[in-house]
Amino acid sequence: MYRTHNCGELRLEHASQEVTLAGWVQKTRELGGMVFVDLRDRYGITQLVFNNDADADLCDRAKKLGREFVIQVKGTVEERKAKNDKMATGNVELIASELNILNASKTPPFTIEDESDGGEDVRMKYRYLDLRRPIVQQNIMLRHKIAQEVRSYLNGMDFLEVETPVLIRSTPEGARDFVVPSRMNPGQFYALPQSPQTFKQLLMVAGYDRYYQIVRCFRDEDLRADRQPEFTQIDCEMTFVEQEDVLNTFEGLMKHIMKYVHNIEIEDVPRMTYADAMRLYGSDKPDIRFGMTFVELNDVAQNKGFKVFDDAELVVGICAEGCASYTRKQLDALTDFVKRPQIGAKGLVYVKCNEDGSFKSSVDKFFDQDALKAWVEKMNAKPGDLMLVISGEVEKARKQLNELRLEMGNQLGLRSKDDYKFLWVLDFPLLEWAEEEERWVARHHPFTSPKAEDFDKMDTAPGEVRANAYDLVLNGTELGGGSVRIHDRGLQERVFQLLGMSEEESVEKFGFLMGAFEFGAPPHAGLAFGFDRMCALLGGADAIRDFIAFPKNNSGRDVMIDTPSRIDQQQYEELYIRSVEKVDA
Ligand code: ASP
Repeated sequence: MYRTHNCGELRLEHASQEVTLAGWVQKTRELGGMVFVDLRDRYGITQLVFNNDADADLCDRAKKLGREFVIQVKGTVEERKAKNDKMATGNVELIASELNILNASKTPPFTIEDESDGGEDVRMKYRYLDLRRPIVQQNIMLRHKIAQEVRSYLNGMDFLEVETPVLIRSTPEGARDFVVPSRMNPGQFYALPQSPQTFKQLLMVAGYDRYYQIVRCFRDEDLRADRQPEFTQIDCEMTFVEQEDVLNTFEGLMKHIMKYVHNIEIEDVPRMTYADAMRLYGSDKPDIRFGMTFVELNDVAQNKGFKVFDDAELVVGICAEGCASYTRKQLDALTDFVKRPQIGAKGLVYVKCNEDGSFKSSVDKFFDQDALKAWVEKMNAKPGDLMLVISGEVEKARKQLNELRLEMGNQLGLRSKDDYKFLWVLDFPLLEWAEEEERWVARHHPFTSPKAEDFDKMDTAPGEVRANAYDLVLNGTELGGGSVRIHDRGLQERVFQLLGMSEEESVEKFGFLMGAFEFGAPPHAGLAFGFDRMCALLGGADAIRDFIAFPKNNSGRDVMIDTPSRIDQQQYEELYIRSVEKVDA
């Protein structure tokens, strides 16, 4: 037997027992004729003691142990004199009587500790060492725990876990596909799924009623920070349900996860329409951990001679409580913040509500105290508050003010990581105008059902058609989303038409699905959650890659196995692909 206990297990009650541990040497130190070793495994760290007086030979061997050696130690558990209440095993130590070196280790290129001295690149190259760090192990274990709870809840609700294929057909709607050449079908390609969307719908047609899968998805997009080319979804679909059933089922899932992973009982998840989210927060994923909602000021701010406002489609502001004391420097910094190219505002107007009831604004030239009072009343601002106002085209102004609101939330400490605020955003528009392509594209995906009451707008005002589509948002991040699906061939054809697809094209790409709709397709709906992101948020972190065992870097590379990589000449030939000698970056 390699071990009788793990390195996180021993307590006072084990005192005087003879045990065997195995693990990695975290650290050794010599002190007054003794050698202390911290022995680590996935479960924790236990202190080993090698006593020179008891066994000089053994102690000498212990002195030679290097970091990350793998050892097996036999000994007796004893109560520690100097206890360490920061360690679960801190009340005891193991007085070693036998040492067996199972494998030596080169000195690792960085310290295997929560606060490692290794940079991102070297840690990714030696990811198997990085994965030994307790903090990373906790993330991976949290991921496991969440996956188990997802399965446990959904299994309990009669969902079936069904696998769908990874080699599928390329349907470039949405993101770009990763493609795989087919050797047996020269010149033809598979695509890797961006999601199992059409398959899960076909499972509903096939009568499977409730489906889920924790499934890998692939999108060949330019990598923005914290995007992975392959990522995991909790993908779900249900038959004979309406939107309301889906919302309730998956609100239940989140409650279950929060309870069994974090021991937090969350309240019923509030709901907001997309239109309200945009109007009040300038975002389709509002962070509702704090207020500071938008107030539109057109009627009190326009026609007072301030051209910037008069020319604007929208004048909109937020009220930052207690911030009237902001200094010139702080206000300039906020102005610089919104003027950054990523945000792109032309400027920022402020009004300080002084404690004495007077106002001081950056537009005093155009607005006297009475005029400013009208703003203050609209915003419900109190003495001591600071109003921040942006103007311009509706969408842009809202977007810019959203960034500013989040920044103020950060500055005022209103966005605590362990405050979990969920929100359903409902009634998304069905379509979105794609400037470059000059056509309508599906806001969610082309299988989403328009709301019945908006059917008649499909020809006259497609942009106003709302969909039975919903997103679940947590603390300002989209956790997942889905929709009620189209299950009628005629309606599906209409939507493809709206998206500018010819009949031949839609039949070529999605004929299999529309064909299935003619064989008794039931009403169905579903959604998918971003599993990596869910793990990161519940782990209190921003980066999803810390929750993926073997992630890719920002250029989509796995630097440990060094891929993507070239393939053998013979492989190129078999696949009928001309090898590219060198592509300039
Ligand atoms: N397949 C969709 C997505 O990946 C989710 C859904 O509609 O169920 O976003």
